[in-house]
Amino acid sequence: MARLTLDGVTKRFRDDDAPGGEVVAVDDLSVDIDDGEFLVLVGPSGCGKSTTLRMVAGLESVTTGEVRIDGRDVTDRAAKSRDIAMVFQSYALYPHMTVRRNMAFGLEESTDMPDDAIAETVAETAAMLDVEALLDRKPRELSGGQQQRVALGRAIVRDPAVFLMDEPLSNLDAKLRAQMRTELQRLQNDLGVTTVYVTHDQTEAMTMGDRIAVLDGGRLQQVGTPLECYHEPTNEFVAGFVGDPSMNFLDCEVRGDRLSAAAFDYPLVGDLRDAVRGTDRVTLGVRPEDVALSGPDDDPTFVAGVDVVEPTGDENVVHLTAGDETLVATVPGMRRVESGTEVGVSLPPETVHLFDGQTGEALRNRVVDDEAERVSL
Ligand code: ATP
Repeated sequence: MARLTLDGVTKRFRDDDAPGGEVVAVDDLSVDIDDGEFLVLVGPSGCGKSTTLRMVAGLESVTTGEVRIDGRDVTDRAAKSRDIAMVFQSYALYPHMTVRRNMAFGLEESTDMPDDAIAETVAETAAMLDVEALLDRKPRELSGGQQQRVALGRAIVRDPAVFLMDEPLSNLDAKLRAQMRTELQRLQNDLGVTTVYVTHDQTEAMTMGDRIAVLDGGRLQQVGTPLECYHEPTNEFVAGFVGDPSMNFLDCEVRGDRLSAAAFDYPLVGDLRDAVRGTDRVTLGVRPEDVALSGPDDDPTFVAGVDVVEPTGDENVVHLTAGDETLVATVPGMRRVESGTEVGVSLPPETVHLFDGQTGEALRNRVVDDEAERVSL
């Protein structure tokens, strides 16, 4: 159990082909991870997630900044003396060893635990992960999901201060991944070990993290609870990255008390007007579930054509076109929307996000009614 601190951590790699001869993989990253917290590092490919994790693990040197565990500076410590266990996407099990030996090996090598205590720890952990019946098999005799459990078990037996997990579920099929997500969360909760989990999958981030840290181009964009990042993104990047289907973005010019987009005008009411003061271009953002569809004659903000309807069972994902604009709406699965027809589209002002047209910074986020959310739970 430990608190993990990244303080201004930067990693530069030499790269003769890059401008300036180097790549800044992680740029001045500061984040405090509480004792027992599950923090998900999320972002697109190449944003610096794995490099960050490897610096925390001690597998990669830190160019500038500090990594601290419980206030102790471990930046220059060897990986094996950091009290950290890492789980990789590739599982990295020893192919010639049985499951039992794979799980025991780290303890045998790096601790002076007596053999019977190691055997007991391995048996307890195997029971926890439901792999007791597999202890005498070799990794090649296991399914992907079973191998992943063993890899987790190998990390758990070490009883580390911190778990680091790098896309540990990405080799599993969708159903198993969803099941393992829940299991991992339960395990982490029971064990209470501070965990940093890397993924590029925003669904994993949203469903698993106590908090998520969103990275882009090596820079931290936002750290917050999944719902904070979803409803109160700090900028357009976070707004677009978190949520599936993604938020709709519409370029608008500010013209007095209205926004002018390619296909429609949008009246600026209440705090929307204050939010755009001093800017002449903004991006209007609205989540698919907030796009309200009606009949084309019901006084909508604009009329759009229905291109494609994707039924997922519980909802329909409706792809719309209005002039050059495209946007996506989601409606309940039982509501019929036909492709090739026209619908009225309204964007309720309380659901609208506005971003600075130049910087992408959030000028106004949707209204979050805490009270209503609590009641609906
Ligand atoms: P992915 O999801 O694809 O694994 P990531 O977010 O984990 O991506 P990193 O692997 O941390 O990204 O890489 C961040 C940046 O650093 C990338 O631009 C990458 O090309 C660069 N990089 C990583 N390792 C090295 C290296 N050893 N030498 C040079 N550049 C590197």
